[in-house]
Formats: sequence, structure tokens, C-alpha cells
Amino acid sequence: MRNALGLMLASVGAAVVIAAVWFWTSSPRADSAVAATVSVPPAERLAATASAKPVPIAEDADVTAVIPAKPPVLPQPKTACANPDALGVSRVVEIDTTGGPGFGFAHFKQLDFLADKEIVLTFDDGPWPVNTPSVLKALADECTKAVFFPIGKHATYHPEILKQVAAAGHSVGAHTWSHANLNSQKMTEQQAKDEIEKGFSAVKLALGAAPSPFFRFPQLQHGAAAMTYLGTRNVAIFSCDVDSFDFRAKDATQIISQARASS
Ligand SMILES: [Zn+2]
Repeated sequence: MRNALGLMLASVGAAVVIAAVWFWTSSPRADSAVAATVSVPPAERLAATASAKPVPIAEDADVTAVIPAKPPVLPQPKTACANPDALGVSRVVEIDTTGGPGFGFAHFKQLDFLADKEIVLTFDDGPWPVNTPSVLKALADECTKAVFFPIGKHATYHPEILKQVAAAGHSVGAHTWSHANLNSQKMTEQQAKDEIEKGFSAVKLALGAAPSPFFRFPQLQHGAAAMTYLGTRNVAIFSCDVDSFDFRAKDATQIISQARASS
């Protein structure tokens, strides 16, 4: 289990102008297709996370690279942002999750839709009081969007917070029911399936709508049987390119340096 939360900090390079690309997305439920979007802010700043208090479980901040072939670039309308130096969103990408593709070079090398200086921000383990609203504020201050991977149990504890995440326009996937290690020797195939299904169901219950068919393995422990299963459910698997290791950090400065070191 990890902790910490996000504040946008640090600066590493110039902005790029990119645009919108859309792929079609299928839902984990065959009867309810969902448009799952990934916002791609320009990497004019590296996003990192900072935890003022290392208390309850919060959001991991991983920077995830993703998707199939380089798509055509279309103009993306700019939205008003009070912060002239905001990270922003350069384009929105819609992912085809058919067959359960994997993204993030830490585990998957085949698919990469990011252009130079682009990043996708992802946050795990919420929803949680204090931390999740702090993450939402930081993202709002930067006029940017992220992908959240909530824990099913936590979604049942704080459905109102998860609703706020979705209402703010972020993508919401799932991160199992109890944050169990699906790659453990003790984990049976059925238990792994239950963790996945109960996780998605809990998030759906909290949101009142189906989440995006996006999944992140707890601790990035990719169990073979669970991966196969996710493929049959047309759920995309998100590893990451850069881990902020915020759960090891004492403060924002440390998180920034760790994220930079591993990028
Ligand atoms: Zn986690």
C-alpha cells in the first residue's frame, strides 16, 4: 500500500503543441461501452507528487506512457485557464482496450502513443479524505487531467470523493478490491478474478456509472493469469514509465528528485 498525493511541481523542458486523437474504447462490461479518455499534458513540467503528511493511503503518482501507433494530430480547442503557466492538456487520447493492451514501458514495450515531451499523470489507491481532494486541487490549479486507479474498498468508504474525481473530468479505472498482490503464490486464479471484478464493481457503484476499462495491478505485480483474464474482459493494463516512489519520500522535494531520477 502506498501513500502520498500530488502537487504539480518542477519544470523540465519546453511545451509542445499537440492535438486531439480518438480511439474507440470498449467497456469491461460487454453491455456498456465507455468512452475512456487519457489526457496528455505537455511535459513542459514534470509532474510529481508531494505529501505534506504521510498519513492515510493516498494516491501514487506515476507517469504513464501509453497507446498504439502514432495517430494523426487534430486541433484541440483551448479552454480557459486562470493560470497562465499551467501544465494544461495538450490533447485527449481515447484508447481501444480490445484484448487488454498493456501500456507503460516498465512492463510493456510495444505500445507508445506519446510524443516527445508528453506525459500522462496517474494516481492510485484513493479515494481518501484530504489526499484525494488535495490531488484534485493541484490538478485543477494546473488546468490538467489525470487517470485515477481507486481501490474498490476505498470507493465504498468514500463514494462522494470518487464522484468528485469523475465530476472534475478525470478518467477513473480500477485497482482491485483490496489492493491484494495478484502475482502472489497464495492468490488463486479465482481470487484474482474476484479482486478485479469486485474492484470494478465497487468503483461503478460509487460513481453510479461504469468506470473506464483501465486497470493497474497493485504494486505493479502483473500476475500472468490475471493478465490473461483482463484480456478476455477487454480491459487495458496500465504499468508506468516513471514511478515517483512517493510512498518512500518524506517531502515534495524528495518526490521531485526521485521522479526526475527515474525518468
Ligand atoms: Zn496501489
